[in-house]
Amino acid sequence: MRIAMIGTGYVGLVSGACFADFGHRVCCVDKDSSKIDGLNGGRMPIWEPGLEALVKSNAERGRLTFTADLQSAVKEAEAVFIAVGTPARRGDGHADLTFVFDAVREIAKVISPGTVVVTKSTVPVGTGDQIEQILKDEGVTGVSVASNPEFLREGAAIADFKHPDRIVVGAEDDHAQEVLREIYRPLFLNRAPILITGRRTAELTKYAANAFLAVKISFINEIADLCEAVDADVQDVARGIGLDNRIGAKFLHAGPGYGGSCFPKDTLALLKTADLAGVDQRIVRTTVQVNDERKEQMVERVERALGGQVSRKRVGVLGLAFKPNTDDMRDAPSIPLVNGLVQRGANVTAFDPVAREQAEKVFTGVEFANDAYEAAEGADALVIVTEWDEFRALDLERIAALLKGKVLVDLRNVYDREEAEEAGLAYYGVGRGRLDFS
Ligand code: NAD
Repeated sequence: MRIAMIGTGYVGLVSGACFADFGHRVCCVDKDSSKIDGLNGGRMPIWEPGLEALVKSNAERGRLTFTADLQSAVKEAEAVFIAVGTPARRGDGHADLTFVFDAVREIAKVISPGTVVVTKSTVPVGTGDQIEQILKDEGVTGVSVASNPEFLREGAAIADFKHPDRIVVGAEDDHAQEVLREIYRPLFLNRAPILITGRRTAELTKYAANAFLAVKISFINEIADLCEAVDADVQDVARGIGLDNRIGAKFLHAGPGYGGSCFPKDTLALLKTADLAGVDQRIVRTTVQVNDERKEQMVERVERALGGQVSRKRVGVLGLAFKPNTDDMRDAPSIPLVNGLVQRGANVTAFDPVAREQAEKVFTGVEFANDAYEAAEGADALVIVTEWDEFRALDLERIAALLKGKVLVDLRNVYDREEAEEAGLAYYGVGRGRLDFS
């Protein structure tokens, strides 16, 4: 099939490259011409494992092309995917659909009857209806509008796209269903479940999925707080409940709260959708509140581990990206933590294996180290914020020798208290027994 992918970011580029790898002819479009120039020169705009090789091999075969000219890509396409950003709108936090609707108006100028327009961006219920209306207003007829929300995780995006837990297609007509079935056919051969629903249901399914995962994270974080009060270990509690198939082990890792480019904005947009529909979503509302409060609590945790004040103290921070294996800094938990420490007068030296370039755009007054040991050197405390694999096997004795203050705040529970203490460190995990700052 001939596919136009509008928006060549984390989702558009991965989806486009994977569709090309399935054998389709994909043209990825972005209005950011520097991104397109880079891709045409073999440079990836994002850091994602395996992406560069996949893009290059499909580009060499001529199945994957890049352009800033939306109209040329859409003219040729049988399916046009919209994968532009849908950030939280300033003011009320609802999904900002400006990029989506701008793209639709551009698409409308050249689209031919029989083409299927598919939203891959995460969009609120009813967006497909609004797109249909815009196309109609622009005089377009005979075009289907479908929803195909994306569930890939950054850091494992290609594997997720090629081996999805499910594919959700919201389509109101047979033609759109058939086109999407054909596009995903290689995955049906691998028996990936496909769920065909109404368009509104598909749109809501994506928000419900992200909100549920956010609930799980906030739930285990509150259980971690309880563990600290009653001297229990949240790692064991999580394992004890996670082995129950009805609960599942994933997203039960206590930590500094969820962040990233999706959960914060998608939970807010779900609440806004519910508000507009006159239905309260108390669980999601509380989840957002729990997560927001957690950010401040993490700053206080570091402060308490440093004896009650961080002013003029040096804090080493390991990991800045919102999760391992990505350079994405959007709404990363490191941001409120580092900014909170800096505001309280701390000197922060941070290290992230790949996100430094992005992080430098986000932080002011932060020094960057070239590795974990450099971040620890002379610091009063070392804080693990993102659980990159390379932080899992640090030489703790070397860390202890480099640190001035011998304090390890492990917000991802990468280490055990015993091994940290054996290395001569005061250890503060999350939910690992009674929290004693004395
Ligand atoms: P992104 O910001 O990385 O990429 C969006 C791209 O769209 C940008 O490069 C931007 O320049 C481009 N763009 C905007 N308007 C355009 C237009 N009119 N024409 C051409 N290009 C245009 O965003 P992302 O992280 O890839 O997210 C895209 C969507 O996918 C969002 O709705 C997001 O919620 C959803 N999503 C993201 C993830 C994820 O892990 N990042 C996972 C699932 C779903």
